[in-house]
Amino acid sequence: MTQTINTIDDLINEIYESNYSHLEFEENMGGEACDCHIHTTLNTIAFYAGIEVGE
Ligand SMILES: [Zn+2]
Repeated sequence: MTQTINTIDDLINEIYESNYSHLEFEENMGGEACDCHIHTTLNTIAFYAGIEVGE
């Protein structure tokens, strides 16, 4: 981790970048929502932050 996490956006971006290949792959598949810990974490953070994210 190279950046300081100051905001929810920073946190989500950091998680997203760290798991880019998985998240991009899942997005490109375009089908069922993934329930792995990465997606669950992102969705949970986004939910409490009031951010709309793709499933
Ligand atoms: Zn996933």
